[in-house]
Amino acid sequence: GFPQSKPSLQPKVPDTSYSTDVRKKLGIYGLTPPNVESHALQSQRCMKQLASKTTPIEKYIYLSNLRNTNTHLFYRLVLEHFTTIAPLIYTPVVGEACLKWSEIYQRPEGLYVSYKDRGSIIDVLRNWPQKNVEISVVTDGSRILGLGDLGINGMGIPVGKLALYTGCAGIRPEATLPLTLDLGTNNELLLKDPLYMGAKMKKVSEKEEIEFLDELMVALNTVWPGIVVQFEDFKNPFPALEKYQHKYTCFNDDIQGTGAVILGGIINALKSTGRPIKDHRAVFMGAGSAGVGVAKQIVEFFIKEGLTEDEARRCFWFVDTKGLITNDRGDKLAQHKIYFSRDDNKGLQFKSLPEVVEYVKPTILMGLSTIRGIFDKSILQKMAKLNERPIIFPLSNPSSNSECTFEEAIKYTGGKAIFASGSPFPPYLHDGKIMQPSQGNNMYVFPGIGLGAILCKAIHISQEMIYASAVALSTAINTNEINAGRLYPELDRIREVSVIVAREVIREAQREGLDREKSIRNLSDSELDAFIRSRMYDPTKETGLEAETPKYRASPSKL
Ligand code: NAP
Ligand code: MN
Repeated sequence: GFPQSKPSLQPKVPDTSYSTDVRKKLGIYGLTPPNVESHALQSQRCMKQLASKTTPIEKYIYLSNLRNTNTHLFYRLVLEHFTTIAPLIYTPVVGEACLKWSEIYQRPEGLYVSYKDRGSIIDVLRNWPQKNVEISVVTDGSRILGLGDLGINGMGIPVGKLALYTGCAGIRPEATLPLTLDLGTNNELLLKDPLYMGAKMKKVSEKEEIEFLDELMVALNTVWPGIVVQFEDFKNPFPALEKYQHKYTCFNDDIQGTGAVILGGIINALKSTGRPIKDHRAVFMGAGSAGVGVAKQIVEFFIKEGLTEDEARRCFWFVDTKGLITNDRGDKLAQHKIYFSRDDNKGLQFKSLPEVVEYVKPTILMGLSTIRGIFDKSILQKMAKLNERPIIFPLSNPSSNSECTFEEAIKYTGGKAIFASGSPFPPYLHDGKIMQPSQGNNMYVFPGIGLGAILCKAIHISQEMIYASAVALSTAINTNEINAGRLYPELDRIREVSVIVAREVIREAQREGLDREKSIRNLSDSELDAFIRSRMYDPTKETGLEAETPKYRASPSKL
C-alpha cells in the first residue's frame, strides 16, 4: 500500500559527530565509522572534498547533496566558511545552476505547483512533508537574476535563498518551503528542450497569473496560517505585491529587499561624500523592478532627511532601452516608470547613458540594467571629473552582467569611487593600498526581515518595516569596517547583522501594532536581541536527539 509517512526531504542521517550514546539511542550505532568526530574535523573533510571539485557547478552539486543528506553539517560549514560558500549556493553560481537545472536535477528539493493544479492548489501544498512551515520563497522563474525566463529551472532561487535564511538568520531548515510555480515559459530553448521538466506551454496571461496567485495565497495561509511569503524573480512582480502586502505577511525581495540593502549602503556612502542630500543627483541605468524599488527607498530616506517628496523624486533620472525616461519621449510608459519620469527636459531627448551623464552631471550612478560594461572607462572618468567622491553602484547580477567591475571603477576614477556592487568582486591593489569592494547583497536584509516577521508574528510586512531594516543595516557596520572603506559589514558577521535587522523590524511592527506576539513587546533592546538569538537555529548545538518540531513557530491558535 501507500507508505504511511511521506518521505522526508531532510532525512536524518547518522552523523559522525553524534556521541556513542546518541548513536545507540537512535539505533544507528554501527552505521557510521567508529570514531566520534569533532565538528572541526568534519569541516576539514568537507572542505577538502569541496576543493577537489574543479568547477563551480560541481561545487554547487556537492553542497546540495550535503544539504540534503546531512543538513546540520551543511549549515555548520555554511556558518564557518560563509564567504566561501555563500557565492556557491547563491549568486553567482546559483545562476549557472538554474541555467543547467534540468541537466543537474537529482531530487525534488522544493515544491512545484502547476497552472493545471488551479482549483486544488491546497492539495499539492498538503503533500509537503514538513508540518510547521513558517516561511516560503516563491518564484515563477520568469525573470531569474539577470538571466531571463528560466521557467521551473528557477527552483534554484527559492532553494538557495532559503538556505541563506537558515544560514544568515537561523530560521530552522524544516520551517522553510522552496516553492516554484509552473505557469509556463516563453523561453523557446526550454520549450524545445526534451530534458526541460516544466509544462511545454507559453506563460499564462497576467490575469491568469494573478488569479492563480490569489488561490495560492489563500491555500498557503490555510495550510500554514500566518506564513511569511517572499516573492522572488517574477517578471512582473508589482501587481502581486500591491494586492497582497496589506493582506498577508509577505514582501518582494527584488523590489523591497534590494531597495533596503542599497539604501543601507547609500546612507553610509552619502555620509562619506559630506555633500548635503539635496545636492545629490542620481542617474539610474535600468528602470526595472529592482531599479525603481531602490530609488523609491532612497526617496523615503531623502524625505526623512528633510526634502519634500517632490524635491526628493526630482533627484532621480532613469535610463532604459529607449533612453532617458521623460513624459514626452513618445512611448507609453510602463506604470512603474511614471513616478520618476522627467517633465523638465524642455523637449530634449537623451538616447544614451553618456548623453544623460553629460546632461545631469550626477553624483550617483546606479546600474540595474543587466548590461555588462555599460559603465565604461569614459563614463567612470567623467564621474571622477564631476565629483570628489562619485558614488558608483553597478548592481546587476551575476558578476558577468555587472555594469563595471571593482577594478574598473577604482582604476578609472583614480581610487575616488565609493563603490558597491550586486555580485562579489575581488579586492584590488591601488596605489599600494588594498581596496575592499562592498557588495550590496540582499542577504544583509532579507533573512533578518523574515526572522523578525516570524518572531513577532507580523500581520503584514509594512513599507516602514522594510525601511527600518535598511536603517538597521546602516548602523550595523562597525568602526573597523568604516575605516577600511566599507559600506557594509563583513559578510562573516552576517548573523550579528541579522539580529540587528530582525530587532528593528520587530520594533517597527510593534510601533504600528502589526505584531501578534505581544509577549516580547516589553523587552529592552538587549533583551530582545537575546530573545532573537535564543530562537536562531544553531547547527553546532544539534546532537541528534532534538524533537522533530521546530523550537518556535507561528502558532495558528493565536492568529
Ligand atoms: P528588469 O526588470 O529586466 O529591468 C532591466 C532594466 O534595464 C529595464 O528597465 C530595461 O529597459 C533596462 N535595460 C536592459 N537593457 C538595456 C539596454 N541595452 N540599454 C538601456 N537599458 C536597458 O530587471 P530587474 O529585476 O530590475 O533587475 C535588474 C538587475 O538588477 C538584474 O541584473 C538583477 O540581478 C539586479 N538586481 C540586483 C540586486 C542587488 O544587487 N541587490 C537585487 C535585485 C536585482 P526596458 O524597461 O526598456 O526594457
Ligand atoms: Mn531576485
